[in-house]
Amino acid sequence: MTITTESLKAGTAQLNPYTMALQQLDEVANHMHLDPNIHEYLKYPKREITVSIPVLLDNGSLKVFQGYRVHHSLARGPAKGGIRYHPNVSLDEVRALAMWMTWKCAVVGIPYGGAKGGVVCNPKELSLKELERITRRFTSELIVILGPEKDIPAPDVYTDSQIMAWIMDTYSMNKGYSVPGVVTGKPISIGGSEGRNEATARGCVYVIMEAFQKKGVDPSKAVAVVQGFGNAGSIAAQLLQKEGCTVTAVSDSKGGIHNPKGLDIEKVVEYKKKTGTVVGFPGADSISNEDLLELPCDVLVPAALENVITGKNAPRIKAKLIAEAANGPTTPEADKVFKDKGIMVLPDILANAGGVTVSYFEWVQDIQAFFWSEGEINSKLKQIMTRSFAQVYSIAEREKVPMRLAAYVLALGRVAEALTVRGIYP
Ligand code: GLU
Repeated sequence: MTITTESLKAGTAQLNPYTMALQQLDEVANHMHLDPNIHEYLKYPKREITVSIPVLLDNGSLKVFQGYRVHHSLARGPAKGGIRYHPNVSLDEVRALAMWMTWKCAVVGIPYGGAKGGVVCNPKELSLKELERITRRFTSELIVILGPEKDIPAPDVYTDSQIMAWIMDTYSMNKGYSVPGVVTGKPISIGGSEGRNEATARGCVYVIMEAFQKKGVDPSKAVAVVQGFGNAGSIAAQLLQKEGCTVTAVSDSKGGIHNPKGLDIEKVVEYKKKTGTVVGFPGADSISNEDLLELPCDVLVPAALENVITGKNAPRIKAKLIAEAANGPTTPEADKVFKDKGIMVLPDILANAGGVTVSYFEWVQDIQAFFWSEGEINSKLKQIMTRSFAQVYSIAEREKVPMRLAAYVLALGRVAEALTVRGIYP
């Protein structure tokens, strides 16, 4: 298999996330004159596993789901990355997400390689029991590659702490003893960490505050717009409001709500808990996900899926700052538009790295069987996020490049150094 960006561009692969990930890698490799051997090495996932997951549905019929786990690079440590359950999961998407995890762990300097997993399913149409059977069978199919020193999954789109608990239990039952360090994002009662649930959003808000400071934006006068109201989006909206920002619009997969005077996010969270969506929230106008992205604001937080900001809509985006709580929301074409317009983009591999950073704290606590307070977790997270922001910002200033390219320079440098010093086996 020869992977070239060109070969993936053919046909409908235009918005293939893996194409995007390879384009980003090519751009940084050219910019930093990366050793061509290292560049070639890093284009390919180290290993990928595709499994069929036979599951008895509640109605007695059997359905076979497809599941994937990809390890991109283990040069800097064990494989780390979430598992997503979504109808649009594909092997190429999981490959891209695994590669982004390699860069993300390197940007924030935590000792992991990059991985990702996914199951093609629609959790909204499955009962809790069906989800449990999918999760336990998927875990058992992957068991040979999982383990605290091998591969440590975590939550991602439409997976949560309950699913992590089933992974931990299935793995532990097969071992014959409890192995909390095999997965992160678990409930606190079985070795989860304080602060992990809010970590992705909290880390994102820390770097937004750093960027505001650089740009001279006063958070108490800032307007924020958030696309996506899952774990990252809903908590980011709440934390931004706590920082004094006016959150004028939020959305979920069913649509968005907008009030130029500001939404009461706590109430929106309550409303969504009751109705299953933000749509219809009293005192707000409805707005589509597409129109929401184009609202004027100081910070736009895409917190849903890939490819929502493209070459098409980027020229109409009026945000002064974009903070990617989601993975891969902005295409390389859109990046070009923002570079020309001077709009700062805090890239996913920096902006949403708070999640995996507190996953790292959780894993360390599990291995040591010694747990930290929420205050300690948040202050260690803040230290890592502000340090990483400062490092990326100084590369961006020095090399006069956008923040994404600067973050890639930092990450690629660290991964390349690890690969070089380890050498190519045999
Ligand atoms: N799924 C999250 C991400 O994309 C978290 C990964 C982890 O904690 O391992 O960063």
